[in-house]
Amino acid sequence: MDVELDKSVRYIKGVGEGREKLMNKLGIRTLRELVGYFPRAYEDRTVFKEINSLSIGETVCVRAMAAAAPSLSRVRSGLDLVKLRAADDTGLLDVTFFNQAYIKDAIKQGETYIFYGKVTGTLLKPAMTNPLFERDSGAGEAASASASAGKIVPVYAATAGLPQNHIRAAVRRGLDECGGMLPETLPDEVSRKHELCRAQYAYENIHFPADMKALEIARKRLIFEELFVLAAAMKRLRASRVEKTGRSIGTHDLGGFFSMLPFEPTGAQKRSICEAAGDMGQKRPMNRLVQGDVGSGKTLVAAACCWMVWRSGCQAAFMAPTEILAKQHYNSLTALLEPLGMRVGLLTGSLTAKRKNEVCGRLEAGEIDVLIGTHALISENVRFSDLALVITDEQHRFGVNQRSLLTEKGDSPHVLVMSATPIPRTLALMIYGDLDVSVIDEMPPGRQEIETHVVTEKHRQRMYGFVRKLAAEGQQIYIICPMVEEGEDPVSENEVKSARRYHEMIQREVFPDLRVALVHGKMASKEKDAAMGAFAAGETDILVATTVVEVGVDVPNAAMIVVENADRFGLSQLHQLRGRVGRGEHKSYCILFQSAGSALNDRLGIMRATSDGFKIAEEDLKLRGPGDFFGSRQHGLPELRIANFATDMLVLNQAQNAAEEVLRKDPMLTSPDNAQLAAQIEHMFELNADRLN
Ligand code: ADP
Ligand code: MG
Repeated sequence: MDVELDKSVRYIKGVGEGREKLMNKLGIRTLRELVGYFPRAYEDRTVFKEINSLSIGETVCVRAMAAAAPSLSRVRSGLDLVKLRAADDTGLLDVTFFNQAYIKDAIKQGETYIFYGKVTGTLLKPAMTNPLFERDSGAGEAASASASAGKIVPVYAATAGLPQNHIRAAVRRGLDECGGMLPETLPDEVSRKHELCRAQYAYENIHFPADMKALEIARKRLIFEELFVLAAAMKRLRASRVEKTGRSIGTHDLGGFFSMLPFEPTGAQKRSICEAAGDMGQKRPMNRLVQGDVGSGKTLVAAACCWMVWRSGCQAAFMAPTEILAKQHYNSLTALLEPLGMRVGLLTGSLTAKRKNEVCGRLEAGEIDVLIGTHALISENVRFSDLALVITDEQHRFGVNQRSLLTEKGDSPHVLVMSATPIPRTLALMIYGDLDVSVIDEMPPGRQEIETHVVTEKHRQRMYGFVRKLAAEGQQIYIICPMVEEGEDPVSENEVKSARRYHEMIQREVFPDLRVALVHGKMASKEKDAAMGAFAAGETDILVATTVVEVGVDVPNAAMIVVENADRFGLSQLHQLRGRVGRGEHKSYCILFQSAGSALNDRLGIMRATSDGFKIAEEDLKLRGPGDFFGSRQHGLPELRIANFATDMLVLNQAQNAAEEVLRKDPMLTSPDNAQLAAQIEHMFELNADRLN
């Protein structure tokens, strides 16, 4: 690594201990990180206007003279006003500063200043409040080095105590110190082919753009570079795994396994199982993602893998993101596997210490063949006698490190990851770039289309009537609310349904004769399980819930799901929620309530138009971008500094192809032309390891 670039920001002029601390808060520790701290926006101070051509609401620079000395007045205690009348050849501008008494002496009558701010007032009497100002050097555009009028000025994400101008100054010095040291990560050939500028130009102009064109050129290069390095890193990761040795579990008669099942596996299930069997029969560890829409039957693939591992005398671990899901997997795997002679165990955080000890004891003694649980599985005292397979469900809820902590409990075990979130292919390549992928693209037979309706408040009574009718027929209903309690969301207050209030209300006022239960994420997991368990057992008719039921919960008797304030959910999330019904023999319904007052949008219409999770995910990604797509969940990728997976999809494709090409010619990145790339990848992994630990 380049020592100079990785030196602490402390050694930059003007950065003392205090500022260093504040910068660390922003994630800036080294010179490299300082110059890599890209602006989040820009102020275009290149536009100058004369006073009589100002438009109200625009933000511009005005060059004007202080026509009179500024006046200071105290409006009331704690509020000082400095008023100033400025003039150019075309008109007058009223300028007001709040609580900046010093300006009274800073601005001198007869001098010319450049004011930068938003134009308010009226066309006849234009004004600016708290504009930025600087003395006009008289030299027109070529102002002094510190002046920012006439320039495009970067705006950084700042933090209390560290204002914009300090960050700007530090970045400026940082860039000057970097000189020619900035790494040229892109191999020449790639730069040429994609017409990308040099690193030095890019860094200079992303911070202090000469003009808009230069900014565009800089952005183009940096976005490409970021995605290129990431793509190359993912490919390297994959290649390094091939070199690792695990152990083969041999081959097994899957036909025999299939014949013992209560149902005939679908073609897609069989294919996925065979792919996994093929992997585990090799000497290198399996690393496979099974991707399948809700209800496609992923659990069976997991069960088959556990069975093969058991046949070869080893153990499997199966980690789920919530207690409810862990329990459910435990129940379904027990039903499938115990008749075959396998011993299935459950370990979750809510077990008593005594029970945990007992499970751990049996596990270490090899008396449990498959251990299912929550992240309790990664705790230190959990020891396997011979762990050969690690399965995680809904992987993007786990950090990469959680997965790897579990794999460390075995000797390079095989890994199977299951995800119900259909991820667009380009993004999947990025996120799961180091995995092989099986897609279950076929539903078990007999599934019915779920009738989906998008409705508004005026349909509420009809909806209640429908709920009553289904309940009378012995079917069950989910009602999903966006929040647990009132007032969690300051933005839109009362309109947003909270699960707790809603539960009280409909139990008392709407369905006093029905059994209405409540489940949400803030309940203790024991209560949560009890409520879910009662619903699954048919002891309650209606379950009012937050999105805790979003993933994987399986209650075949549930025939309807109502989503309140549906417009507040992502489409993929709605798709997951809808997947909670239509899992049994009953015709099923999904009712999406559009919030009162929210503009009728077509977004929810997509839900009515298709039940294909992949299509929905693509729409979601287009509309909302990946941040929302994944919610706040960690998806295991390094944070992007400048590129955006959703809007830079095209560049992502090019970057991936370019990375592939480079690695095909130089798989170990040993050529001098690729030295900077290799270093950069290493750096990225180091950073990521830091972040995840
Ligand atoms: P998911 O992919 O959402 O995890 P599950 O594995 O929970 O789906 O399966 C959903 C339901 O479909 C379960 O009740 C399961 O028993 C049933 N199922 C799975 N595979 C088949 C099949 N091949 N034929 C019939 N039912 C199946
Ligand atoms: Mg599942």
